[in-house]
Amino acid sequence: MSAPACHVCGAGPVMLVAGYDGFRRVTSDCKPWPAGGQCAVCPACQCAQAVLDARWHAEAKAIYDAYTIYHTSHGVEQSVFDQASGQATTRSARLLQRVLKEVSVPPAGRMLDIGCGNGAMLRAFSQLAPNWKLAGVEVNDHYCATVQAIPGVERLYVGDLDTVPGQFQLISLLHALEHIPEPRAILRRIWDKLEPGGLLLIEVPDCAANPFMFLVADHSSHFFLPVLRELVRGVGFEILAAANDWVAKELTLVARKSPASDTPAVALPSVLPAVQARLDWLAAVRAHAKAMSAKGNFGLFGTSIAATWLYGELDGRVDFFVDEDPSRIGKTCFGHSIRSPKELDSRATVFLALPTPLAEAVRTRLGSAGTGPAYIVPPPLPA
Ligand SMILES: [Zn+2]
Repeated sequence: MSAPACHVCGAGPVMLVAGYDGFRRVTSDCKPWPAGGQCAVCPACQCAQAVLDARWHAEAKAIYDAYTIYHTSHGVEQSVFDQASGQATTRSARLLQRVLKEVSVPPAGRMLDIGCGNGAMLRAFSQLAPNWKLAGVEVNDHYCATVQAIPGVERLYVGDLDTVPGQFQLISLLHALEHIPEPRAILRRIWDKLEPGGLLLIEVPDCAANPFMFLVADHSSHFFLPVLRELVRGVGFEILAAANDWVAKELTLVARKSPASDTPAVALPSVLPAVQARLDWLAAVRAHAKAMSAKGNFGLFGTSIAATWLYGELDGRVDFFVDEDPSRIGKTCFGHSIRSPKELDSRATVFLALPTPLAEAVRTRLGSAGTGPAYIVPPPLPA
């Protein structure tokens, strides 16, 4: 088949990345998904992306029809671990604390969270900025009662952005932009919904630091920081912050609707070699984990995207999962027990399903006693 145009900027044709269709995939709500997707890079805007053909749309619909938020932890928002301390906080609270520290946010206003899910971001915002009026918009009303019970929430709007009345001083898109088939179009509509001077907050996975995210079947775009920054700038926003270290493995961008902003366009180098190197890394991770699992008494550290993907690639040949999140320990993942690192025997092998630097930090923290299981770190990440 001929390659289609870019779904971000409309240029084309995109360049297909060789070998991607040999990888099994995973859904963004952490379920194994079969191989067969396509990954491409746009030669103009450099956005790495899925090919949004009829098959992709059918797969995305099937995934969303069966969607469960945080199913392993029964609806509790995923925790972010500080690798130094092992302490957890919610991802939304961690992000917001940093935003409020780095960016001047007015003491009151009206805020909209697009793709608000069960209200994790709205709940965190309500606690940290209690004088704001809050609203959420979501494609279904599954969590309507939960969201509308959050202090400050005026209501949950169901449908697309056009169903939401009025203007806002802050609009957030957390783990939403990478799902949206027309990211530039939604950013233009957000521009129209913001008051002059209003803020846009985006968080998406950092595919450079976390290559496992290339394997999420329902993600339409796979962002690198310079590409995300240029996308938002191109819509007219003034970029206030664009960071890959506010939350580990995430890209955070804060921008302002500044009608006079005229920051010049930046010519981006090709990201194709970086994407190909990350797919090669994923193949090496898969081979490494397969070799280790053949020995038996084998566990995967983690119960999220990376561990779920490896579980699928290993055809389920996993004896247990390991997690430090108290809301997950003692439960099961695909029928296998989720154990605390403290309850592992010394003959076990545990593959750290994490990007390499985080895996090394975990091995240093948990493996220093020398009497526990063997913790296996993935190969070095490409530069
Ligand atoms: Zn493009």
